[in-house]
Amino acid sequence: MGHFKYKNGVLFCENVSLEEIAHTVGTPFYCYSSAHLRERFNAYEAGFAGRKHIICFAIKANSNLAILSCLGHLGAGADIVSGGELFRALRAGIKREKIVYSGVGKTAEEMEYALENDIAMFNIESMEEMALLSKIAENMGRKAPVSFRVNPDVDPKTHPYISTGLKKNKFGLSMDQALAAYKRAAADKWLSIKGIDCHIGSQIIEMSPFIDAFRRLRKLIKEMAKMGISISYVDIGGGLGIAYREESPPEPGDYISAIMEEAADMDQAFIVEPGRSICGNAGVLVTKVLFTKENGSKRFYIVDAGMNDLGRPSLYNAYHEIRPVRKVEKEGVSETDIVGPICETGDFLARSRPMPRLTSGSLLSVMSAGAYGFAMSSNYNSRPRAAEVMVYGGRFHVVRNRESWRDLVAGEIVPGEGC
Ligand SMILES: *Cc1c(COP(=O)(O)O)cnc(C)c1O
Repeated sequence: MGHFKYKNGVLFCENVSLEEIAHTVGTPFYCYSSAHLRERFNAYEAGFAGRKHIICFAIKANSNLAILSCLGHLGAGADIVSGGELFRALRAGIKREKIVYSGVGKTAEEMEYALENDIAMFNIESMEEMALLSKIAENMGRKAPVSFRVNPDVDPKTHPYISTGLKKNKFGLSMDQALAAYKRAAADKWLSIKGIDCHIGSQIIEMSPFIDAFRRLRKLIKEMAKMGISISYVDIGGGLGIAYREESPPEPGDYISAIMEEAADMDQAFIVEPGRSICGNAGVLVTKVLFTKENGSKRFYIVDAGMNDLGRPSLYNAYHEIRPVRKVEKEGVSETDIVGPICETGDFLARSRPMPRLTSGSLLSVMSAGAYGFAMSSNYNSRPRAAEVMVYGGRFHVVRNRESWRDLVAGEIVPGEGC
């Protein structure tokens, strides 16, 4: 898998051994490859082949400052969904004019913060949101740049929890509502129409839903032009999938060139909001076997990372490949559940996986964990969140310290009332 390869029987990230990192920082930890981020970002770049564009990394997939800074250096913008993500983007040095703000539930405070910082545009998802933004813009005496998120009602053929572009989902405006919304915005002197936006779901591994959605968007843009509403940005969202197992999603460059072909007669700048397809296979979660346990014919490896560290298996029944960090003879292979220490039956990283015999202390690498991994982690069961490490060729840096027990209680107050 790209930059995670065995050398002399030990799994490396680029030129650094995961064993070496484990000895230095302990387990569990997330490890990211900067080379992978660079390659994936550049693959998107190549697809645009000279067309005006911004690649806005979807921060929610992985919001570590080192990741954002690495992508920012390459020229990435950001797709944010909260004030906190805007704070991170600015901290990491991402250019404000390359930041787009998505999400169905922006608060007044968040809107003010984003307006003050002069971001590229707000992707508006409802009429009430538009009204609030207009009011805030008026109070601040500055126009708000907007685009509307439209819902093209195409089936992305992905997991229902991560499909967003269907009429039954909470996101965006329907195609018919959109025209009315643009009319209203055009008449509002505190809003300035910049673009149009859509995002149909995540982990999409076929081209057709993207093409269908884009054609619908293009049709709408033509109708808008007839009404005298012109835009300068077309935001096609994120959602391109990655290979977790045997999937073969389109390469970013091929995906973008296919869309650019569809857009041959359009002169707008394009925005794409990739998250998973940039960082998903840039990261792994390394964990240690604590105990082996047999219940009848079933074997369990109890490891020191759980659903609080990586929630995708429990949440979506997602598949993550699991590799021993040190290759072992394939003897004693049997169906094994790899489970965490959390007190929930749903706390597993893998189920019924053929695994070789390992002993306590063995390290395992949970692959494809760079997106929606650490970003979705929690302190459930009062477990400190894992350390994060980034590899740059032959060097590695801790980019987030492992939390301590003190960190866990840092914001808590005992009022001194007794009880
Ligand atoms: C989640 C999200 C993305 C990124 O999705 P990926 O599947 O990680 O590429 C992009 N845009 C919006 C609006 C999102 O909600």
